[in-house]
Amino acid sequence: MTTSIKAEYEIDLALHTKDFKLNKIQDFCPLCHSSIKPVYRYAWVDNRGLQAVFECPNENCKKLFIAYYRISTTDERSKLETEYYYSNSEPIRVKEKAFSETIKNTSAQFCEVYNEAQIAEQRRLKNICSAGYRRALEFLIKDYLIQEKKDEKEEIEHKSLFDCIEQYVDDSRIKECAKKAAWLSDGETHYYRKWGDKDLNDLKVIIDLTVNWIESESLAKKIIEEIPEPKKRKKKKKRRKEEKEESDQGN
Ligand SMILES: [Zn+2]
Repeated sequence: MTTSIKAEYEIDLALHTKDFKLNKIQDFCPLCHSSIKPVYRYAWVDNRGLQAVFECPNENCKKLFIAYYRISTTDERSKLETEYYYSNSEPIRVKEKAFSETIKNTSAQFCEVYNEAQIAEQRRLKNICSAGYRRALEFLIKDYLIQEKKDEKEEIEHKSLFDCIEQYVDDSRIKECAKKAAWLSDGETHYYRKWGDKDLNDLKVIIDLTVNWIESESLAKKIIEEIPEPKKRKKKKKRRKEEKEESDQGN
């Protein structure tokens, strides 16, 4: 939503102030990561763009940050109607993603690489963060498969991620999603080009799905191990009944 703020600028060493149009004002704090309506404090315009200082209204934060805006280069716009487009904010504090104990125990390397990719993403290093997320997915899937199939450790390690998914992953939905991400990690430029413009969020959704899948598989396995089979329980009950009868007869 377009909005406007007062900003200062300099012409011939004299300061002036006027309203400038912004395409948006960000709705989260780059330092405490809360959803906020930032408090405007100051803005400066020069030929490189507009820099606006905002304060986070969150009582536990109250920190200042600078939002950077680029001047619109759209030809149809009249020079008098110049609009500034949000680019990024600084400084940022990187928020690490917390993974469950199941995931940490499955692949510590996945957690580490994922959070490194997240740092790269928050610092807008797009190429590095895409490669990082794909690498993280590879650690997660391979470490999980090795944990499940210890005898095939070497084979899994040497296989491509795509082949591992094809051969060992049974869940059909996870298989299809993870295969798409694996094509990218195997350097299939055709898919890379096709996917290049797509939001990075798709790759992160695939990772989230894989994390959920591994967590539910582990949970199901734990429950199966912990709850005894109904037959065994029946036998136990029968044995207890027989013991009771024997002791009654003894009395
Ligand atoms: Zn804040």
